[in-house]
Amino acid sequence: MALVKCPACRTRMSSVAKVCPKCNYSRNPEAEADPEQVKLFQKRLFRDRMYKLRMFSYVAMTITMIGALPMLWDYIQGVEKGSPVILLKHWGIYVVAVGFFLYMVIRFLMVSTKKRYRANLPLDQTRTSPVR
Ligand SMILES: [Zn+2]
Repeated sequence: MALVKCPACRTRMSSVAKVCPKCNYSRNPEAEADPEQVKLFQKRLFRDRMYKLRMFSYVAMTITMIGALPMLWDYIQGVEKGSPVILLKHWGIYVVAVGFFLYMVIRFLMVSTKKRYRANLPLDQTRTSPVR
């Protein structure tokens, strides 16, 4: 049993396997992969991944808001009472920091996913030097 690379995601898989264990690409072990079909499949993988990342970015934005809204609220209350809250000492700043950090990480992943897709590189493997 030899190992071949999945035509869609390039994970190593058994040469007799009909379906890639990682991305579920179904192939015919006896025939060459149809480039058009592979392209379509990669597009779908890319879309799924971007969709998930977008969902995560909404979660990160929500976390940021959960921290930011009480800060804003307490700040307004403080101003009305004549004793403004110091925002950097508010607990919300930590929540905002975490949410913002997550958001930035997700944005970075989205950009690198797009780049990999455009360069036709595997979406899931990290490579420092892309080999063509
Ligand atoms: Zn695959």
